[in-house]
Amino acid sequence: MSDNSFELNEMTLSVIDEFGGHMPGGFFIYHAGGNEELIYANRSVFSIFGCKDLEEFKELTGYTFRGMVHPEDYKRINSSIHDQIENSIDHMDYAEYRIIRKDKAIRWVDDYGHYLNTSTYGGVFTVFISDITEKHEQIESNIASQMATIEALNETLKKVHVEHITFSKVAQALAGDYFSIYVVDPETDNFVRYSATKEYDRLGLQKSGEDFFNMMRMNMENLIHQDDRVRFMNIFTKEKVFSILKRDGSFTTKFRLLMEQGPTYVSMKATLLVDEDGSHLIIGTNNIDAQMKREQEFQQKMSDARNKAKNDFLANMSHDIRTPMNAIVGYTNIANANLDDHELVRDSLAKIGSSSHFLLSLINDVLDMSKIENGMMQLSESPCDLFKIFKRIEDITSLQAKNKNLNTQYNKENIVHAHVLADELRIEQILINIVNNAIKYTPEGKDVQLKAEELGPADEGKIRYRFTISDTGIGISEDYLPYIFDSFTREQNTTINRIQGTGLGLAITARVVEQMGGKIEVESRINEGSTFTVTLDLMPTIPEQLNDEEAQELNIRGHKVLLVEDNDINAEIAMMMLKQSGIEVDRAENGQSGLERVKENHYAAILMDIQMPIMNGYETSRAIRQLDGEYFKKLPIIAISANAYDDDVKQCLEAGMNDHIAKPFNPDDLMKLLHKYINE
Ligand code: ADP
Repeated sequence: MSDNSFELNEMTLSVIDEFGGHMPGGFFIYHAGGNEELIYANRSVFSIFGCKDLEEFKELTGYTFRGMVHPEDYKRINSSIHDQIENSIDHMDYAEYRIIRKDKAIRWVDDYGHYLNTSTYGGVFTVFISDITEKHEQIESNIASQMATIEALNETLKKVHVEHITFSKVAQALAGDYFSIYVVDPETDNFVRYSATKEYDRLGLQKSGEDFFNMMRMNMENLIHQDDRVRFMNIFTKEKVFSILKRDGSFTTKFRLLMEQGPTYVSMKATLLVDEDGSHLIIGTNNIDAQMKREQEFQQKMSDARNKAKNDFLANMSHDIRTPMNAIVGYTNIANANLDDHELVRDSLAKIGSSSHFLLSLINDVLDMSKIENGMMQLSESPCDLFKIFKRIEDITSLQAKNKNLNTQYNKENIVHAHVLADELRIEQILINIVNNAIKYTPEGKDVQLKAEELGPADEGKIRYRFTISDTGIGISEDYLPYIFDSFTREQNTTINRIQGTGLGLAITARVVEQMGGKIEVESRINEGSTFTVTLDLMPTIPEQLNDEEAQELNIRGHKVLLVEDNDINAEIAMMMLKQSGIEVDRAENGQSGLERVKENHYAAILMDIQMPIMNGYETSRAIRQLDGEYFKKLPIIAISANAYDDDVKQCLEAGMNDHIAKPFNPDDLMKLLHKYINE
């Protein structure tokens, strides 16, 4: 018999029952192997299981250990018990598990078991159990509340931890970007340097101390590049920094710091951090040297590009101006030297004429463009007749086209509403520019077409018109097409391409179209031709009673006109023109003598220069209008001036003049004006 052997048999069992029956706790014995059948269980075990006697207990549990344990706990318990028995010296085990009572209530029990080897029953377990449900619940609730506390604690810790980490990480990350970070108490001006790079450290500034602003100002005096010093000293006072902080929320200034490696661009930024600890001024300085250098390089490139464009433009312009000027000077010399050769003189004059014409258009374009770019171009809308505009365009361009042997077609059949409210001269300018280009860039024998159509109603009672100018000329390359409406651009330089031009025509055209609220588009294929389309919405008007042609039929021959002009050459040109049309002309050399003449003579109209000595055109006109008599109020005064802008025209009208014509003028235009006013 081994140490563990116990004489358990019928007899000893009845003795056990004697004791067991009176034990307050549960006691039972079961077979360690097989089905773990019970050998014995006392009354207390029955009552723990809610059974009144052995019968009920047997029914509930099948009188086996397995039947006593909650099925979900059995496996865990069984292996735990066996492990403990094997590993303990005294063959003892302890376990807690659930049981299901007869009334289905689930209870917790503790189990002190002991393994015995018996000669009658073999290996058995003797077990003391008691109901520990209340205790267990208490423990569980204790554990639960402890767990909750731990959990909450963990959460808090985690948060604190995260916040801590986040703050320090951010600070570290920022500090990495910054040369230095100072924290200043705005109340005391005490400061601490939070971080500084080695190179900043070498500048030898205090790490903490009092009177932050003075400390910085004193040190920076010697550490800032001399060109930035005054600006920094002006702005970096406590008062200024705080007033900027108040206004903008942050304060930033840039300057060059004289570091070991040389002047280095830095940006100093100050922000006010306000929290429950009070307010702190955080001042960080970071290195923006690379960024500034990149920016400067970029600016340099931009300015180089601008200079190049300017130089290109000047080179082209000086070429463009010199070419016609050379022709004018050259042919004038030729004509002078050959006055008797009428044919040669006529030919020279024709060439001088065409060169002057080009020069004038060049000057007009440059002035026009600068005016547009300064936002000073104004449209002056008045009732006009589209058919008349087309007629003039046809007159002007068909001659050039004919000289080049081009097939031209002007198609305006689709226009029903020709009377519109518009800036007549600007519409003419748009179309003439495009048609002229079509003629210029189309080789002999090819086609140029202008087609005007009405597309139907547009917004605000307007009508949409489309003007299409197409040619079968040299075309425009795909590369150049996107830049065609940019100023001073040409597909080829005048110096290469013999065709003259400034590269301004289309830029002006596009701007004018834009100002009119219209659209300009271009399609082109090299060697096949180009098509420009201009779409404008114009307000239709009722036709005027008397049109220009009818008025022109009335004769103005024999009328007397006063020309007030101080420049002899200009006066001579104008007088010759007028005389050729059969008009009698008096000339006054300045405003004052003009005024005298007006008082003494009866004129049909006055042609008035603006800039003159003694009395200018405005003063003279005002004085005439103030003279007594209906005649002086109605006498037509037409300004002839070199200032051709709309505001000059306005000024003329305000001075009491009736109209305006720009110098140098076209004889036809002057005659038209005289017709208009003399026959009124
Ligand atoms: P430019 O005074 O040089 O004619 P524009 O602004 O009127 O200036 O035109 C710009 C450039 O566009 C021209 O130099 C030419 O290369 C190109 N271009 C304009 N119209 C045509 C066209 N109908 N056919 C081919 N090329 C054209």
